[in-house]
Formats: sequence, C-alpha cells, structure tokens
Amino acid sequence: MKIAVLPGDGIGPEIVAQAVRVLRALELKVELEEALVGGAAYEAHGHPLPEATLKLAQAADAVLFGAVGAWKYDQLERALRPEQAILGLRKHLGLFANLRPAVCYEQLTHASSLKPELVAGLDILIIRELTGDIYFGQPRGRRQAPDGAFAGADEAFDTMRYSRPEIERIARVAFEAARKRRGKVTSVDKANVLETFQLWKDVVTEVHRGYSDVVLDHMYVDNAAMQLVRAPKSFDVIVTGNLFGDILSDEAAMLTGSIGMLPSAALDARQKGLYEPIHGSAPDIAGKDIANPLATILSMAMMLRFTLDQPESADRVEAAVRHVLQQGLRTADIWSEGMRKVGTRAMGDAVVAAITKTTTKS
Ligand code: NAD
Repeated sequence: MKIAVLPGDGIGPEIVAQAVRVLRALELKVELEEALVGGAAYEAHGHPLPEATLKLAQAADAVLFGAVGAWKYDQLERALRPEQAILGLRKHLGLFANLRPAVCYEQLTHASSLKPELVAGLDILIIRELTGDIYFGQPRGRRQAPDGAFAGADEAFDTMRYSRPEIERIARVAFEAARKRRGKVTSVDKANVLETFQLWKDVVTEVHRGYSDVVLDHMYVDNAAMQLVRAPKSFDVIVTGNLFGDILSDEAAMLTGSIGMLPSAALDARQKGLYEPIHGSAPDIAGKDIANPLATILSMAMMLRFTLDQPESADRVEAAVRHVLQQGLRTADIWSEGMRKVGTRAMGDAVVAAITKTTTKS
C-alpha cells in the first residue's frame, strides 16, 4: 500500500505530520511518499499541482492531504492559485464521491450551536456528488438577455445537469456506506421543481432495488436543511448532488461545533481516495503549534476504513481520539474551562500514546 502525503500550506505540514506519526504507530505495511502541493509547490516549481505530484497521487493507493492556500496568492491568475491543486486532483483522479461524517463527540457537545440533547451522540454521513451538477454543466456564461421582459440586459446562466451513470454510481456509494452503518439512506433532491432532480430521484429509487436491506427515503432539500437543525439524529446517510451537498455538508459540519474535528474523503469508482480535513490552511495560526490535528488524524482513519480496508486500525485511531478527549486534552479551538490546553504536537503525542497502549494490550 502506497500513500501519497501532500501536506500543502499554512498549518498543513503541522497537522499532516501528526497524522503520519499516528499512522506509523499502527505499524502497518504502508509506504509513504511526500510531495509539494499548493502554494509550496508554486514557490518551488511555479505550479500548484506539479506533474511529479500528480503522478505520485495517481500511482498511490490513497492521498493524505493537508490544506492549501494563503492570502498572498490571491493576486495570482486563477490557474496558478493554490486551490487549483485540489480541483486538479479531484478531476485527474476522478474523485466523484465526497464523504463527510459529522460526528459529535460526547465530550464536545457543549461546543455545538444546537442544544446538547439534539447533538449528543450525533453520527451522520453526508455523501455529496463532486464532479457534476450546476458547477460543471455547460453551457454557462454571461450575455445580453436575448428576449423576455429584460431583453438586452446583462444576464448570466449556468446549467444543472446529471446523467444516469453519475447518479447510479453515487447512489451505490451511499447504499454501500449505509450497509456498514445503521442501514438508512436519505436522498435529498428538488424533484418537485427541477427535471435534473426528478431523474436523480428515479435513478436512486432504481439502484435501491439492489439494496433491499437498506431503508431509503427521499427528502426535498429545503426540508432537509430544516431537519438537519431540528432533528439531526434522524439521519444516517444523506446522499445528494454537488450544489445541495456543498451547502448541507457545511451546515452538518457546524452541528458538531468545531472545524478542527471534521475529516473528509473524496473517492473514485474503486474506493481510491483523497483524505483531508474539511478546514483550510488557517494562515492566521500557522507555525504556532496551536492548530488542532484531530481532523487530519480522523481523515487518516477514514483512509484506513475506505481505501486500505483496515477497519480495525480505523477503529483504533477513532478510539484513541475519543480517549484523549476523555482525558480532557484540548487544542485552543475546542478548549473550555477546566480542560488541559495542548498544542498540535502534544495532541499528536497523546493520540500516539493512546494507540501504543491499545497495541500493547492486544
Ligand atoms: P480556514 O478553514 O483555513 O480557517 C477558518 C478559521 O478556522 C480560522 O480562524 C482558522 O484559524 C480556524 N481553523 C481552521 N482549521 C483549524 C484547526 N485545525 N485548528 C484550529 N483552528 C482552525 O478557512 P479560511 O481562513 O477561509 O481560508 C484560509 C485559506 O485556506 C485560504 O487560502 C483558503 O482558500 C484555503 N482553503 C483551503 C481548503 C483546502 O485546502 N481544501 C479548504 C478551505 C479553505
């Protein structure tokens, strides 16, 4: 098993270093190879996704990614900005399924903006289609309106579009994931208004025939947005398109309180994946040893579960994270009165120690 390690910019190298230490503590047979990406790659090679980095990512079984971006690159032409690296990787690796678990750890229920009883024990998985929908549909553009009440005025337009195979493959990812969880999929659409999402609903229903052990329900996106804050624990797996998923996954992420805790995966058709925390490169806190490395460590656990097929190791990492939280260790972003404040590296040390303890026990 080969893993491409792409730390990136800002806090990326600090948090990825901790995830790598935890991975090494598991003593699995994995080969790690590191490469530059984002602003760091632009500085060294003049491009945020150099050929060598892309080749490494393509050859590897999985990619562990930190974050890219810094304000100083905002003036660069769009194609050279660090964020283009992540878009390029998604495109070249065919990463069409974005998995974002929203788990509220018992010890952090107070950090949520919702009442603790609504989020205690929350464990949902949002699956967002990542390569289609209105973000990529053609035609798109700006022009003078050719007709209608506003003929001659500036107008802009995008195209919402999904094909049957695109819907089938993301639906299968959702049903497979639900099988390993509580066996329920909620497909979120806007079939009452949009043709694209009538097809979405029809195809998801057809694919479901091969997964009779999984319960499927359909929900309009406006209702889903409401239910996510009214009764988030009523969901297990949510599957939806690119646009709705973009919005709902951020909404769900915030239910758990801290951006520093949330992992994600982007998978291709063969479960190869790119694993990264949902947060960015946090330039405001980079290099200060205060960033929370847990989202990256938990992303690495997702990598063990979804690509490397090492569910026991994934369980051990997640248990180790729970253990350090139970011990009262907190980085600044999740710290509260009475807890022990630790830095990035000390948090990594604690997770490694918890892993090593379970190794010794077993
Ligand atoms: P951000 O997620 O980097 O930071 C938002 C806030 O959360 C900041 O106050 C930051 O200090 C804090 N934060 C983020 N991660 C944290 C962690 N692990 N521990 C503690 N606090 C943490 O978002 P931003 O400030 O809007 O963007 C900064 C840069 O990151 C930009 O260049 C942006 O384009 C880029 N970005 C990259 C990705 C990616 O690489 N996938 C995603 C989002 C943003």
